[in-house]
Amino acid sequence: MIPPARRLIALCFLGAALTACGTARQEHPASSPASPATGSPAPSRAPVLAPGPGGLTPVFEHGPRTRGKTVAFTFDADMTADQGPRAASGERFDNPGLIRALRELKVPATVFMTGSWAEQYPAEARDLGRDPRFEVANHSWSHYAFTADCYGLPTVDAGRMRADVERAYASLRAAGVPHPMPYFRFPGGCYDQRALRALSGLGVTAVQWDVVSGDAFATDADAVARQVLDGVRPGSVVVLHCTRSAAPTTEQVVRTVVPELRGRGYRFVKVSELIGETGTGR
Ligand SMILES: [Zn+2]
Repeated sequence: MIPPARRLIALCFLGAALTACGTARQEHPASSPASPATGSPAPSRAPVLAPGPGGLTPVFEHGPRTRGKTVAFTFDADMTADQGPRAASGERFDNPGLIRALRELKVPATVFMTGSWAEQYPAEARDLGRDPRFEVANHSWSHYAFTADCYGLPTVDAGRMRADVERAYASLRAAGVPHPMPYFRFPGGCYDQRALRALSGLGVTAVQWDVVSGDAFATDADAVARQVLDGVRPGSVVVLHCTRSAAPTTEQVVRTVVPELRGRGYRFVKVSELIGETGTGR
C-alpha cells in the first residue's frame, strides 16, 4: 500500500523545506465560535471513509472515475520546527500569490497544513480556515515521517504518531481554523500498516493522491503543468505545494492548468466532495 510514495520523487525530502500558503484577505468571517483547542478532528458532517479491518485508518487516493470530470487540487503546507529560524530570518514558506490566484480563478482546494506552519503563519491559517473556498486538513505537526526511509525526513516514533497528529489539530484550532477536516496526509506520503494502526480511532481518513505535480523544487512551470495535464483523470487528486521558497512555480502552474482543465470539461472540487462520492459507490 505504498505505491504513491514511490512516485513521489522530489516531493518530500524537501520535508524540511516545504511549507504553505498564505494571504491576508478575509472574505468570510467565522459564523461560529472557534472550537476549543483540542487535539481531535471536530465532530463534523465531513464525509470520511469507513475504517478498515480492526479499525485501521482508511486510505483515500482518488475519487470515482465514472461520475463525471471532477478533480481536486491539494496543497501541502510543509514546515518543520527547525525551520522556524529560517522563517524568522525572512525565508517565505507561505505563498499569498498562489492563494490569490485560486480565489481569482474560483478554484476550491484542500490545504494539508502542518501544525508548525499554522504556528508560524496564524493569520494566514485563520484566513484559509474561514474561507469556504478552502478546507484545511492535517499534515502532522512536525512533518516528520511516519515510516523509515522517507525522503530523508526525520522519523517520528511510533508511540508519538498519534500525539503528533493531535498536536497539529490543536495548533490549527489555536490559529483560528474553526473546523479542520478529518483528513490526514502523511508527510512524504509515506505510510505502512503500523502507521495506519497508530492513527486508528482518531476518525481520520488518510489522503494520498494519484497525480504528482512535481512542483517541489521545480523551476520549469511548463514541465510541471504538462505533468498535471497528462496525469489528470476523472476523480483525480493532485498534490501540489503552497510554499513559495520550495515550490516557486506553483502559482504559474495553477494559472496555466486551470483554464486548460476547464476547457476539457473538468470541474474543481475539494477532497471532501470526492470522498463523499466515493462513499456512495463508484
Ligand atoms: Zn509534506
